[in-house]
Amino acid sequence: MKEYCGLFGISGHKTAANLVYLGLYALQHRGQESAGICATDGVKLRLQAGMGLVADVFDKERLLRLPGSRAIGHNRYSTTGGSHRVNMQPLLVDIKGRLLSLAHNGNLVNARELRQQLKAKGAIFSSTNDSEVILHLMARSRRGGLEEQLQEALKRVKGAYSLLLMDGDKMIAVRDPYGFRPLCYGRLGRAHVFASESCAFDLIGARYVRELERGEMLVVNGGRLRSRRMPVPRRGASCIFEFIYFSRPDSFVFGHDVHDVRQRLGCELFREHPVDADLVMPVPDSSNVAAIGYAEQAKLPFKLGLIRSHYIGRTFIEPDQSIRDFGTRIKYNPVKGLVKGKRLVVVDDSIVRGTTTRKLVAMLRQAGAKQVHVRITAPVITHSCFYGIDTPTRKELIGSSYSVARICKHLGADSLGYLSISGLRRAAEDTGLDFCTACFDGKYPVGKGE
Ligand code: SF4
Repeated sequence: MKEYCGLFGISGHKTAANLVYLGLYALQHRGQESAGICATDGVKLRLQAGMGLVADVFDKERLLRLPGSRAIGHNRYSTTGGSHRVNMQPLLVDIKGRLLSLAHNGNLVNARELRQQLKAKGAIFSSTNDSEVILHLMARSRRGGLEEQLQEALKRVKGAYSLLLMDGDKMIAVRDPYGFRPLCYGRLGRAHVFASESCAFDLIGARYVRELERGEMLVVNGGRLRSRRMPVPRRGASCIFEFIYFSRPDSFVFGHDVHDVRQRLGCELFREHPVDADLVMPVPDSSNVAAIGYAEQAKLPFKLGLIRSHYIGRTFIEPDQSIRDFGTRIKYNPVKGLVKGKRLVVVDDSIVRGTTTRKLVAMLRQAGAKQVHVRITAPVITHSCFYGIDTPTRKELIGSSYSVARICKHLGADSLGYLSISGLRRAAEDTGLDFCTACFDGKYPVGKGE
């Protein structure tokens, strides 16, 4: 499961592009395939983008080519539209003589249908990503102002979108009416700041103010902030996976502390699936906090029995069969002295295909573990996501075809326990949010698209 994108924007700061660079750096976990920044001095809009990590794409010289006090940036991970240069964001277009830049986190479920309609009317697309549809719809609007054009375009799109938009005068931040993806607002002195997660504010010393409401549009113009609203459905559909896995535990998303919710997931998991064991260990790093919750509730020691290497890029040497499970081994290694002869509870955030978990269980047994009990802080994933998360097809999801007992056998674990959907809701109850849980129950709030 991979997140699609991270957004960061700032308006009213003399080193806007540099701060966006840092913001994107803090949001690198939300997308690693491409990074881009568009900045404006109020006259021109200039874009710099490239394939790869933020630190690889940008250097001092490239940032110097982005003068101005307003900038938006984007980290991308993609499968929709493919990983190509044409799909890098922010997008920069000329609509009736006005330059406009857009960065999008999410996925539109009716993009293909709209694209076909627009093409039939003569529109020419320069990328294969769904975000460009919004710009084409804006270009066809007869309304005058940027906000009005955007509102008109958004009436026609369905799905998940958190957006940052900018022209020579304004910056606009929007969350879709269901509120699938997060987007928060903060201040840095007199500057207005937006980010997918609040950890990006911390890095630049900005103050977190609040999450945008679902269906809210915040407009910054001449240093002033205005809020506009779109009609919203009765129930929201915030992506519960932001708390389970995607967001950093030091972030606020959807207005709530990720660390708190994640730790409660671990507590609920123990209540539902206790086990007699010697120690609790996470599959690092995304499960660390939930494993602490499980261990505290179980009154068992929490240990780092698996170490994750943080320094792997793309390995260009792929060994032949002589090193088994090279891909998993290069990332994780067991601490033999800790796991040898022990009954382990291994906490992970999800099982998608089951391949990695199976390899980890085998690795721990090889290191001398007496028992391996796998505990998952999410329910069984049975359906694909159409709202901006890269999941395999239903057929490839192990949970869509096999029972928990069969999966446990396949993993080679002594026992396997998944958190139930009600356990998940209990853990996130304090947030008061309505969640999307479609990947566990197939109830898609805005359909699946074509
Ligand atoms: S289907 Fe799953 S991953 Fe996708 S938005 Fe809903 S909860 Fe999140």
